Amino acid sequence: MNRSDTLIKNQNLLIGITLRSDLDFMKKNKVAIIGAGAVGSSIAFDLIIQGICDEILIIDINEKKAFSEALDLKHCMAYSKHTTKIKASNYTECGDADLIIITAAAPYIQGQSRLDMLATAKKIVKSIIDPIMASGFAGHFVVITNPVDIISYYIYKLSGLPKNKVIGTGTALDSARLRSILADLIGVESNSVQAYTIGEHGDSQMIPWSTVNIAGKTFADILKDNNDRLGTTDLNQILEETRRAGFEIAAGKGTTNYGIAATTVDIVKAVLNDENKIIPVSALLEGEYNQTDVYVGIPAIVNGKGVSEIVELHLTAEETEKFDQSVTIIKDYIAQL
Ligand code: NAD
Repeated sequence: MNRSDTLIKNQNLLIGITLRSDLDFMKKNKVAIIGAGAVGSSIAFDLIIQGICDEILIIDINEKKAFSEALDLKHCMAYSKHTTKIKASNYTECGDADLIIITAAAPYIQGQSRLDMLATAKKIVKSIIDPIMASGFAGHFVVITNPVDIISYYIYKLSGLPKNKVIGTGTALDSARLRSILADLIGVESNSVQAYTIGEHGDSQMIPWSTVNIAGKTFADILKDNNDRLGTTDLNQILEETRRAGFEIAAGKGTTNYGIAATTVDIVKAVLNDENKIIPVSALLEGEYNQTDVYVGIPAIVNGKGVSEIVELHLTAEETEKFDQSVTIIKDYIAQL
């Protein structure tokens, strides 16, 4: 090959590369949201404002509500930096969606625990997953409907999708609440606090205090060094505040929506942008934490594959016991599915 042939070949290669990367750039992300209630519509709004995807389908058994939410959200477009197509839709259009968010639920009855919601949630979810799978959908599910760990497991079984593609929001919202409480206590911002709650997204969740740190400093050391300010800190009280936060919010406004919307969008972004972000999602354990066949909230690496790897925290014996107790509660309910 002479020099000019080589130049042409390299040029073609370059054009080839350019075209391919243009096509990659042009790839559209399509997200469907099932359930146009407080949570579903807040997620749609957040997706639009942050410009995360190109197309959003809103699906609800109440078609009028889905239509109205979609129309209202469409009017954000004149003031948005990113164009997102949004419409009310149905399951036949889910086949080529990249990701489907499940928020459908029966109306919340004051005083209900998340586990009380199981029987109704199961029926609703079955009526949704069957037509979605019939549409040929092969993308990722992000599950929010409570009780989220059990419903995520149910969707994993019902859909036949690989475990990495069914992601529950798990303790991601609880962890955000914990970080906010600790941030206020210590006087730093939430993003500077590394803290997770793990286990059930519910009453039995626990805080592995040995893993909580700020700027690499353990929480125990922070308490020791700031005895004058933080000496009276009650760790049980912090856990109680964290797990009751949802009920406290719902007592005043009937629902919780903004925190879970931001939490969900973080997971959606991690999948669609292949971020390798560590998020405490609900994922299937198969030997990790010495547990199998259960969806539970634990930190995991989330990327284009979905849940690509579970992060195994080194828990103390006491923390392991509490975590195992929480897992047992989830397993008992899974057995009733
Ligand atoms: P909501 O009552 O405002 O909305 C639920 C929507 O689902 C309604 O619009 C309803 O018409 C629709 N729906 C009911 N049955 C349906 C079906 N068969 N097919 C399609 N749509 C159907 O409730 P919300 O406040 O938006 O909460 C939704 C769910 O999210 C609840 O289960 C709630 O407990 C849960 N949640 C979870 C977390 C978490 O951290 N995982 C946080 C907040 C809320």
